[in-house]
Amino acid sequence: MEVFSAMGERDHEEVVFINHPPSGLKAIIGIHNTELGPALGGTRMWPYASEAEALEDVLRLSRGMTYKAAAAGLNLGGGKAVIIGNPKTDKSETMFRAFGRFIQGLGGRYITAEDVGVSVRDMNWIRMETEFVTGIDETLGGSGDPSPVTALGVFHGIKACALKTWGSESLKGKTVAVQGLGHVGQYLVDHLSKAGAKLIVTDIDPEQVDQVVSKFNAVPVSPEAIYSVDADIFCPCALGGVVNDDTLSEFSFQIIAGGANNQLKNEEKHGELLRKKGILYAPDYVINAGGLISVANEFRGHHHKRAMIQARGIYDTLLSIFDIAERENISNHMASNRLAEKRIRELSENRRIYTR
Ligand code: NAD
Repeated sequence: MEVFSAMGERDHEEVVFINHPPSGLKAIIGIHNTELGPALGGTRMWPYASEAEALEDVLRLSRGMTYKAAAAGLNLGGGKAVIIGNPKTDKSETMFRAFGRFIQGLGGRYITAEDVGVSVRDMNWIRMETEFVTGIDETLGGSGDPSPVTALGVFHGIKACALKTWGSESLKGKTVAVQGLGHVGQYLVDHLSKAGAKLIVTDIDPEQVDQVVSKFNAVPVSPEAIYSVDADIFCPCALGGVVNDDTLSEFSFQIIAGGANNQLKNEEKHGELLRKKGILYAPDYVINAGGLISVANEFRGHHHKRAMIQARGIYDTLLSIFDIAERENISNHMASNRLAEKRIRELSENRRIYTR
């Protein structure tokens, strides 16, 4: 495994390998870029098949956080951590407290939060050893579930897409196909319904579907059918990779805008194919930044209200991205990358201004 060349491929600043035999902790922290501030990003626990696979994941995810924070206008850099292990069988208090002490040792260059396989309880253990953790329990002064903020950001993002596509942000009478009715999906359908949208919904969990159908008068379809329904907007709020070679030909939507991460199977290829097909795509890491906005505000000691206001700002950010894409004749995904890179470049140039 060539660590330095892997770091060089994506311009990583620092990668920390952690080994703590007493607790069985084996972890990697990836700090991609700290031009805008400390690197914030969740810890994922996963039974990686190899160390190389874990390293690849942490490098990929931490770079993504740099772009997400920069595009959201946050003064944060990009980082992520992975713990190699089975989240169902390998967790312990000693493991997460040891991890917390290693994070403390980084002196604030990396701030952690929850991700796949890691719970609020684990965050609370980390919190016992370090102040550089966010996304903790409400009873300990944390911000709790970030999904309402994420859903609000997605809702305002959808309105920006409507304005761009139809010249009005109104969703009254528009049909929205929502895939995934979990934390984000449930809050989102509430906003959409209140805005007068018609809903087509799906989930692999029938209970989630029944709840939404009875409450919001939504039309249920099977998980496989959602890609080809007759709707104006497709709103992925479940899994990644849903825009791919197979699904693209089924789409008759005018807009794709939802909360799920990594919606494009291949960012460059499928972002470009959407553009060519005339489907307006809201880059996932921009429209779903509400979760990051929520934990960032928690860390800075701000209130929920401020996070909600910042999440509404996703509306304007998306409109700027659509302008860049149009002007430069590139996909919206590429345009959002350029917006993020520009902000990092310009603000790092400010560092040259001497103050005392
Ligand atoms: P969740 O686990 O609460 O909900 C996901 C839902 O999707 C579940 O109800 C699940 O049954 C359903 N689902 C899974 N596979 C499906 C399929 N093939 N077809 C239809 N439904 C399916 O997760 P969440 O917190 O609501 O997050 C949803 C997505 O948004 C994820 O991609 C997540 O990474 C992303 N996201 C969430 C937040 C947040 O604040 N929760 C923030 C940013 C991004």
